[in-house]
Amino acid sequence: MAIEDDVLVIGGGLAGATAALAAAEQDVQVRLITHKQSTLRHASGLIDVLGYTPEGDGPLVDPFDALSDLPDGHPYERVGAEAVREALSFFDDVAGEAYAGAHTDANALVPTHGGTVKPTARYPASTAAGLASDDRDALLVGFETLPDFEAPLAGAHLEAAGVPFSARGVTLSFPGIVRDDAKVTRYAHLLDQNESVSTSAGETCAREALAAAVEAHIEGESRVGFPAILGDEHAAEVRADLADALGVDVFEVPMGPPSLPGLRLEDLLYDALEAAGVRVTSGVPVVEYETGADGDRIDHVVVDRTGSKLPHRADQYVLATGGLVGKGVRSERDRVYEPLFDCHVPHAADRYDWFVDDVFGDQPYARFGLRVDRELRPLTVADDPEFSNLRAAGAVLSGYDFAAEKSGGGVSLATGYVAGTRAGEEGGE
Ligand SMILES: Cc1cc2nc3c(=O)[nH]c(=O)nc-3n(C[C@H](O)[C@H](O)[C@H](O)COP(=O)(O)OP(=O)(O)OC[C@H]3O[C@@H](n4cnc5c(N)ncnc54)[C@H](O)[C@@H]3O)c2cc1C
Repeated sequence: MAIEDDVLVIGGGLAGATAALAAAEQDVQVRLITHKQSTLRHASGLIDVLGYTPEGDGPLVDPFDALSDLPDGHPYERVGAEAVREALSFFDDVAGEAYAGAHTDANALVPTHGGTVKPTARYPASTAAGLASDDRDALLVGFETLPDFEAPLAGAHLEAAGVPFSARGVTLSFPGIVRDDAKVTRYAHLLDQNESVSTSAGETCAREALAAAVEAHIEGESRVGFPAILGDEHAAEVRADLADALGVDVFEVPMGPPSLPGLRLEDLLYDALEAAGVRVTSGVPVVEYETGADGDRIDHVVVDRTGSKLPHRADQYVLATGGLVGKGVRSERDRVYEPLFDCHVPHAADRYDWFVDDVFGDQPYARFGLRVDRELRPLTVADDPEFSNLRAAGAVLSGYDFAAEKSGGGVSLATGYVAGTRAGEEGGE
């Protein structure tokens, strides 16, 4: 017998989690099934709505100004600017104090670990004191065992980029960590638990030891930036303790993968899913589907639970399986395809037209994905909905280049919100 729900969301990244939360708002029974890790663990935790236009103009001050000029088929054009606003406000309610940026439509400029500044719409509270629009001088602190963040270089790059403050970097040894291959979660755990560490002054708690190591290097700066390793479960407390001890504001600079702010966002979303009563099944893939007699509706999908095939039936389905990175869209030598429902993925017949030689050029493959109608239903080559009860959201969609536009998080939120809301409305009928 099949497991039955009103709405079934496939994929548990930012798009899928948002879709499931939005569907649950409609008082229907929602299940989310997800397989491997989502890109949240690799992403910075920033929610970029639109930092640059598809033509590369920017950084944009107000992303909403540019939304009405986006080309047909762009996910934001499909859902409309009002839905983007509603989705952001939905996210603000879910994230609460963990995120900032809701007070303005303007993009914030957040320093990155490479010393560039990134236009973003919502940012973790831990990065708020580091904004590049703030004119207070900043000391950046890197660690010998964390080569991904070269604080002196990042400081020099920020100054060269013309930020309105002085940015100076120092590299220190992290109290209690000697291995240069320690995971970022090890740094976070040490600070979360405030473990005892050995220093030249004897045994002391990790937070105190870190503050003591940094203190001597502050030369009048009123804020200090660390790589994003300042705790996981108790991140706000770690930051507050360091700020107290140093007498300055403390902020985190988002890092490359694996990303603690991304992991924290994932935890926040999964806590919200649990609180909303969404049934979450992780670590298993959806591998097949069956349609009803007319072929127009998906009747049920099949989940592979270590070899056993379990049918799951729902009234409405949301496909949020990610893009080329998440494997919701795949490519072989002669075709690009969506592996679960075999929805149409438009692409040039000649694979040499899938990319251009200039690595920084406008790459066609970056826009590969499903074309959808305004209800976010995937479309066939003839422009008909593939199935009447399937919607798609997030990186599985076509028509945008999240890396070039800086729009990944925003598109996942907006399309996840719309797909989930519509699925919830129809699933409850
Ligand atoms: C390195 C990196 C850095 C980024 N940085 C930023 C940033 O700074 N700001 C920003 O806004 N965006 C950023 N992005 C983009 C953003 O993270 C993505 O656009 C967004 O998270 C995509 O979410 P998604 O839910 O669509 O897909 P994904 O996160 O890829 O999630 C898809 C999920 O579906 C699961 N799945 C796939 N197939 C199946 C199946 N058959 N059955 C069950 N589950 C399945 C996968 O295992 C995965 O968990 C970054 C992306 C990357 C890769």
